[in-house]
Formats: sequence, structure tokens, C-alpha cells
Amino acid sequence: MILELIGHEFRFDCENMCMLFFPNTKFAAGTNDGRSVKTTFDGRVATAEFIDSDGRRFSSSAEVCDILYDKEKAAIKTAMFGAFSEATGIRPPWGILTGIRPVSFWLKMNEMYGDKAAEILEKYYLVMPQKIRLCEETSVERAATAAMCTPDTVSLYVSIPFCPTRCKYCSFVSGATEKEHRYIPKYLEVLHRELTEKAELIRQRDQKLQTIYIGGGTPSILSAEQLESLVCHINRTFDLSDMCEFTVEAGRPDTITDEKIKALANNGVTRVSVNPQTLNDEVLKIVGRKHTVEDFYRAYEAVSKTNMSVNIDLIAGLPTETAEGFADGVEKITQLNPDNITVHSLYIKRAADYGMDGSGKQMVCAGAEEGTLMLTLGSDILHRNGYLPYYIYRQKNTVGNNENTGYAKHGKECKYNILMMDDLQTIYGCGAGGMTKIVNGTQIERLSNTKFAYNYIED
Ligand code: SF4
Repeated sequence: MILELIGHEFRFDCENMCMLFFPNTKFAAGTNDGRSVKTTFDGRVATAEFIDSDGRRFSSSAEVCDILYDKEKAAIKTAMFGAFSEATGIRPPWGILTGIRPVSFWLKMNEMYGDKAAEILEKYYLVMPQKIRLCEETSVERAATAAMCTPDTVSLYVSIPFCPTRCKYCSFVSGATEKEHRYIPKYLEVLHRELTEKAELIRQRDQKLQTIYIGGGTPSILSAEQLESLVCHINRTFDLSDMCEFTVEAGRPDTITDEKIKALANNGVTRVSVNPQTLNDEVLKIVGRKHTVEDFYRAYEAVSKTNMSVNIDLIAGLPTETAEGFADGVEKITQLNPDNITVHSLYIKRAADYGMDGSGKQMVCAGAEEGTLMLTLGSDILHRNGYLPYYIYRQKNTVGNNENTGYAKHGKECKYNILMMDDLQTIYGCGAGGMTKIVNGTQIERLSNTKFAYNYIED
């Protein structure tokens, strides 16, 4: 798409606005797909003129609203929103907000506008009332978690970037081939060394470790012995006297065995995540997850015999799943009564990545409206069953521009998720793809580890 800026320099925000309506749009020279948008700002009025690939023109204008702290940018985004909505018939539920942390924006609005915040968000940022309610509810637990942080409290993230196979919708860097799996023993050796160094650093800095999260990938791809060795190494090297939570993402149900669950439960792990993503076997096959719904129930049963808290991940918008089918899955999951249920919005990849169905027809993910309906139905069911939202984040290119939301029974929220998402404390990242975030008041320094496991083992 050709994007033209006249009288302003908000290129990044304008590109993000384009992607709200046209996921995965490319703007670089040589990627002209026949569409163009011209944005003009004269100091008071912003205009957006959009020409689609059939040559049809759509335009919209918006005047600066002086009470907004980002008034010029908001006017330009509003003009683009108007032109794109008219062209596509889509009305993104988060309006002109393009950031990944809507709750931070909500808190900022509250500081600036007090009890007028909701009205301003709806009227000038075009956010739908149900999303404003989501921010309101989520900010309650955020405040409680912020209260447990002091400048010397920290958390630890440990990355296991390997999976048994690759899901078709995956957007992570994760080794899913036999060749990559051969790196695992060496990877764990290097990881143990890095963990020892981080434990020493935390000791030297006189910091208190509050939460640990072992994520992936699929950490439960490790054998029971490897998992036990990793968790025991953490127990030995870190001072865990201030710990309140230790999560391991078990992930794919086909990797979960009774031995692995015992290895975690007997060595201080307090929370695991078991992720069916959908309770529809056909959909699981289509997206390339090599497990069945029955595998999930078997894994869940193994985990529920322990004292560990359980999270279950679902994805809204998977190819061929209907809103009704998704809601039915949420209902069935609530009947299991896990402490946490996380609802993700599908990350949209190119259609070709989903492949063909049995009759040779191209698979596509759910449309924007259906994706939004899934989340609305899911939210109603979850609220009715005593689950409240406690953290949300957004990604680009998701079905219907919707968010990912963690729901929890009262008092069972995952602290790590809130601490990490809202930058409430320093998080040390270990392993390939791990990122250390040093939080110092409002200053945040980010230090990334190498992305790929094969580079990590060479470091
Ligand atoms: S389990 Fe997660 S990280 Fe692994 S391939 Fe599937 S989506 Fe990607």
C-alpha cells in the first residue's frame, strides 16, 4: 500500500491504522498492491483519502479536539478510521487505539480526565463500550498486583523454544523439527549455566524473586528427567523465600504425562498451563496440532489430581470454528472449573498458511465480526461462571483486531502475567528469545538474548 503523509510525520501510527483494517499490509517500496491512502493535516483538520484496489475512493475528515493530549495524532487517525470503515464496512472495537496495552492507556485517561475517562474514550477514541468495561475490570487486579511490588522485587522468565510440531497459526520462533530437537540436551546445559549466572546477579543486587514463568514453545516437550532437573536446578540456585508463584507452560496436551506432572508438582511448581486451543477435533487437525480433545481431557485429569493451579488457553477465530462452536468450548472448559482461562484472538497469517480443506477449498480464519462475537459470547459465559478478566494485551493482525484476555477466579490471577505485561517490575529473561526488562520507575531498559536455539548454544 502507498501511504502518503502531508503536513505531519505520524508514519508509524498511520501504518498501524492501515493494519487495523488490512492485516499484514506492506508499505516498503516495491510492495505496491494497488491501494493508496493520502493523509493530510493543516494544523486544525485532518483528511484521509483512500483508494482501494478497484480504484474506488473513500474520504473522511476530523477536526482537532483540544482536550486530547495527543490531539493532532488522534485527528489523523480518526480521519483514517472514517475512510477505512466506509471502504470495508469494518468498525474495529478498539477504535483508533493501536497500542498493545489498552489498560495502561485507560489508567492514563483516568489520571487526566477522572470520571470523564470512559466518555472520552468512547467519543474521541471510538472505543466500544464493552472494551472500556474490559479495561475497567482488568485495572482492579492490576492495582492489587502493583501494590505487591517494591523496587527490589523481580521475576524470572525461562524460555524453552521447542515444540513437537508447528501449529499452522504459529507466529513464534520455536524449533519443531527433529533436527532442532537434537539441540535440546546442549540447550539445557547452556540454560542451566545462564540460570546460575542470573541467580548470582539477583543475589548481588539484593533483589527478591517473586514469580517464575517457564514458557515456550512447549516446555513439556522436555522429558520428565529434563523437566525435573531444570526445576530442581532453579530450586537449588535461586533464593525462593519470597516466591509467590511458579508457572510452567505445559502447553500441548500430547506432551503431558503423569511423570512430567509429578516432576513439576513435587518440586515447587504452583501453576501449569494446559492448552487445547479448541475443543473441536476437526479444527485441531486443520491447524496442525497433533493432539485430540481426548488428549486434553486426559492431560487435564492428570494435572487436576495435584495441588497446582491450572490455566487453559483457547483461541478465538481458528479456521472453520463457528462462534457457536467456540462458545460451546468455553462452556465445557468452565465445567472443569480451572483457576484461569485465557482467551486469545487468532493471529492472522497469510491464507495460504492454513492450507486446503478436504474438498480442496482454501481455509480461512474467522471474519472480524465473527471473531468479535466469539469474544463477546466467551466473556458472557466466563462472567456467568465467576471468571473475571485480570490482564489483557493486544497484538497486530488479529482476527477482528481483538485482544488476548486472561480470566481468573477471584484470588487466582497469574501475577507474572500482570507484572510482565504492565512493566511493573524487573523481569530477567533466560534462554533463546528471552528478554530481560530492567524496570526503574518509568524507565525501562530491554536486553534481548539471541533469538534462535542454535545460536544460543554457541554463545
Ligand atoms: S505450541 Fe505454540 S509455540 Fe508451539 S508451534 Fe504451536 S503455537 Fe507455536
